[in-house]
Amino acid sequence: MFDVKKYYDVDNLGVALSLLSKEPHLIVIAGGTDVLIKMQHGWNQEETELLGINRIAELKGIRMLDNGDIEIGALCNFNQIEEDATLQENIIPLVEAAASIGGPQIRNVATIGGNICNGVTSADSASTLFAYDAKLKLSTERSERIVPISEFYMGPGKVALESGELLTHIIIPKESYEGYQGRYIKFARRKAMDIATLGVSVNYRIDEASGCFEDLRIGLGVAGPTPLRCIEAEEYARGTKVSEEGIAGIAGKAVLSSHARTSWRASKEYREHLIEELVAEALLSITDGVRGEEDE
Ligand SMILES: Cc1cc2nc3c(=O)[nH]c(=O)nc-3n(C[C@H](O)[C@H](O)[C@H](O)COP(=O)(O)OP(=O)(O)OC[C@H]3O[C@@H](n4cnc5c(N)ncnc54)[C@H](O)[C@@H]3O)c2cc1C
Repeated sequence: MFDVKKYYDVDNLGVALSLLSKEPHLIVIAGGTDVLIKMQHGWNQEETELLGINRIAELKGIRMLDNGDIEIGALCNFNQIEEDATLQENIIPLVEAAASIGGPQIRNVATIGGNICNGVTSADSASTLFAYDAKLKLSTERSERIVPISEFYMGPGKVALESGELLTHIIIPKESYEGYQGRYIKFARRKAMDIATLGVSVNYRIDEASGCFEDLRIGLGVAGPTPLRCIEAEEYARGTKVSEEGIAGIAGKAVLSSHARTSWRASKEYREHLIEELVAEALLSITDGVRGEEDE
């Protein structure tokens, strides 16, 4: 049981933003799978004041907007993401990332908004959101701004949320997913209930006439203090043949963007080895059909 100083439980976005504006010290709690663990390990509960947002309907649901962008409410949990037909059709790596998180109970309460706002590099949804150039809608009582996810992560556990601000929606632009194929691979020591040792999310579009990558995006988690993109590999990939050799070249370049560190989970060298192996594995697994046709 927790014995906190104050707990507001709101079901309306306007009320939540107004409360946050008046009491910016309130700690936002969505699914609580990170916040409650922190409270259990060290926070002074008697000083803790929470703002529960989990009942706000405006922050739930996944929908395709009129312009084709996909909007995901910050309060969507990972079961909803895994089962959503729009995401299954268009952004498979996010569905794969959702399915890799925790166990069924965690996926039922852990939200994508909390996964991003906790600012950790191992967040399974983050590398895919980086790889699809996701944008974040952030609101205060008086304003709203849209921030590319690449500008949201400031350092380990630090994100660019301003005082009184809530993440309301995640937007995947149409041009980022239309015509792209993708894959997410989580490497962890156990198959379930484990944090990623490395997360790799790739997506690409092929120029059918030449059989080369027209565009390729690679997002990595746990390859640095924040999730990151493999810019050198992405530049190298444009115009590179979709072949085993081409993919090996791309995977080799992916390591250049990494800032991997040694931790108790894995050494820097092992993580770098995983980057090369898993980028290649992810690309080989989804280009099978294309490479097959080429060989015939
Ligand atoms: C047993 C267990 C297993 C786990 N396994 C995984 C795993 O495999 N992969 C993984 O990535 N994570 C894992 N996690 C971590 C956690 O479940 C996820 O990070 C989850 O997505 C956090 O979402 P939440 O809604 O529970 O966040 P909360 O705990 O409610 O909040 C997390 C942080 O985000 C802030 N916040 C939440 N929502 C908003 C918002 N809309 N606007 C502004 N700030 C907000 C909170 O103030 C807090 O700082 C695991 C956790 C546990 C306990």
